[in-house]
Amino acid sequence: MSATRTCVVCKNQLDQGDGVRVVLGPDGSPALDLRRKLSGRGAWCHWQTSCLSGLGKRGCLSRAFKQPVPIPSPSQDGVAWPLGIVRSWQEKRQRELIAAGAGAGQVRSGSNVVQGLLQSGWALELVLASDAGATVASDWGKKARGYELPLYRTWLSCEELGAATGRDGLRSVLALGPGPAARALALELKRGEAPL
Ligand SMILES: [Zn+2]
Repeated sequence: MSATRTCVVCKNQLDQGDGVRVVLGPDGSPALDLRRKLSGRGAWCHWQTSCLSGLGKRGCLSRAFKQPVPIPSPSQDGVAWPLGIVRSWQEKRQRELIAAGAGAGQVRSGSNVVQGLLQSGWALELVLASDAGATVASDWGKKARGYELPLYRTWLSCEELGAATGRDGLRSVLALGPGPAARALALELKRGEAPL
């Protein structure tokens, strides 16, 4: 049982598993507790981009903590805090989990392979590369709907998916099967919510 908290942005309730904690450091600046290791005064926020982006809006954290909270600068590529940090964290997590899932045989790639795994009922989710083209995306979208499976978009490109799965060349689509490594990846992708 995880305790219920309130999201400081949308004010709706969240389970701890669906949220991320924001912690104030000794100097009063905010940090996301992504590794769940930081101590200190905390506030909770949903993983959704809409709620996370609200954290960086003027006054949100100051109201939540009842003290002035400075908002950190945007990331190097100009993405507002905390979305830049969340995105690089999710990229890294997704890369690690895809590699672990592929190593365990719970994540498979290649269009023909994935098509076969859909037909056999092995595939439980599909994952698209961030740079998969519109035609490819719409094609897999139709298949996912036809088989009533979720389709997630990862932050990783076709090239990065190829590297993460230990294959040569590009991989535009992955199938996730049963098993703990694939389940952990599915949870992370659901949180990651890269736009489809
Ligand atoms: Zn929220």
